[in-house]
Amino acid sequence: MDIKTISDIDHMYVRFKSDRRNPLATIQDYVSGRVLEQIQQAFAIFHSIGGSLNNHEIGQAMLKNVQKLEPRKMTVNEVIKLIQAAKQCAIGERVCRALHKDTPLTESVFLDELATGMVEAGKAKYVSKAEAIENIKKYQKKPIIVSKVSEKHSEICPTWPKKCLYWNMEKHKLKCINR
Ligand code: SF4
Repeated sequence: MDIKTISDIDHMYVRFKSDRRNPLATIQDYVSGRVLEQIQQAFAIFHSIGGSLNNHEIGQAMLKNVQKLEPRKMTVNEVIKLIQAAKQCAIGERVCRALHKDTPLTESVFLDELATGMVEAGKAKYVSKAEAIENIKKYQKKPIIVSKVSEKHSEICPTWPKKCLYWNMEKHKLKCINR
C-alpha cells in the first residue's frame, strides 16, 4: 500500500486507536484475517514514517495492539518442548506471507485450538508432533518467534525478519519481542 498524504496516515492512526480497544490476540483474529489487515496497515506506516516510532503516538498504539500476543524469541529446544506438551499440531504458511508472496516460504506450527481453527479455515494441515518438530528443524536458521493467541503460546513462526511485523517494529525502536 502506498501512503501519500497526511490524511491517509491520520486515517490509519484512527484505525489503530480503535483497534487498541480490542488488541490482536485471538484465534478468531487469525482465522478471520484481521491479523493480516493489521500487519498490512503497520507496513504502510513503516513505509510512510521512517526512523524511530518510539515517541510517536501511532508507535505507542502499535505496541499496545500487539502486547497481548507477547511475542517471544525462543530456541529450537524450547519450541520442541512446547510441541511435545501440545495436544494437537498443524503446519501452515507463516501468516504474513499472504501479504508478501515474493518472500521465501517458511511454515509455522500452530498448536491446540489455534491448530484446529487454522485447519478449519483451510490455512494449515494437521501433522504429528514429530512432523511439527521436523518442520521447525528445517527452518531453524530463521529466528523463531512464538506468539500467544487466545491466552496460549500457540503460534510458532520461523520468521522472515525483513517482512516480519515484530522485527520491523523493533527496527523502528518499538521494543516488542521478549527474549
Ligand atoms: S514473520 Fe513475523 S509477522 Fe509474519 S507471521 Fe511470523 S511472527 Fe508474524
